[in-house]
Amino acid sequence: MVFLVLLCKSLIERLPDLVQGYVEAERLAFAVVSVISLEMTFWSWNGVLFVMYKYDLFRAYAVHDGLPSEEMIFEAFLDAVIGHFFVRPPLLYLAFPLFQSDGWMSGEALPSLPTFLAQVFFCLCVDDTIFYWSHRGLHHPSIYKYIHKKHHLFKKPISIATEYAHPIEDFISNTLSTVMGPLLLRSHSVVFWYYTCMKLAQSIEAHSGYNPPFPISIFSLLDVCDCAPAHDFHHSHNTGNFGGFFIFWDWACGTDGRYNNFLEKKASDPAYFNVTRHIKKAKEA
Ligand SMILES: [Zn+2]
Ligand SMILES: [Zn+2]
Repeated sequence: MVFLVLLCKSLIERLPDLVQGYVEAERLAFAVVSVISLEMTFWSWNGVLFVMYKYDLFRAYAVHDGLPSEEMIFEAFLDAVIGHFFVRPPLLYLAFPLFQSDGWMSGEALPSLPTFLAQVFFCLCVDDTIFYWSHRGLHHPSIYKYIHKKHHLFKKPISIATEYAHPIEDFISNTLSTVMGPLLLRSHSVVFWYYTCMKLAQSIEAHSGYNPPFPISIFSLLDVCDCAPAHDFHHSHNTGNFGGFFIFWDWACGTDGRYNNFLEKKASDPAYFNVTRHIKKAKEA
């Protein structure tokens, strides 16, 4: 009896330390899984695309010709290494209290498939809305050259340019837009990991200079996405197509007008015909 009382007393005294240890372990696990999943997505896609650039593969699906200079590619690579390995991991660890929810790591059940899909869709909509309006704002002539010009140094983007941006742009248009949906929902960690990796893969594809068909690209199935051709036009012409994941806001605000004119002219170009299913659909209609 005395032993049991002493044990309980000891446990109660150690409880704050035990809870603290559990919270810290959960925090570390969140940061580690987030970093590993994002890095695997980023570097694996960049690795595949690097081989495609180097050996000039799948030209039938290429949106543009030529590559940026080696200096620019190296600068973007260095930028990615610093951001991914020295900035993102501590930020995710420090930001964990913001993300903390009654998720899987706390022993709660996984969300049902409908809930999971609905939350991913909600996160993508929130992200696309913040990205569209902040991106459009960064193109205002009074601030463009101070912030967004860096990302537009790539006139014909390749995958390594995906996150090549000024820190202010990176924070508002990339980070804040990405995390706002999961924060509003206090979503499950699994939703956060899947959605961030899916969004990153789509952004890499939009900057890749390739518009491959399904099943190489799942985004080819979504008519509301027009990844590489639309964003490539934005980089090369520096106008319109401010959207990220969807083309909704550009359609709703009419900021896709010049792009649509461009597509109409390109419709007679057999080299471009292959890469833009929107032209194909227009011709088939
Ligand atoms: Zn832009
Ligand atoms: Zn871009």
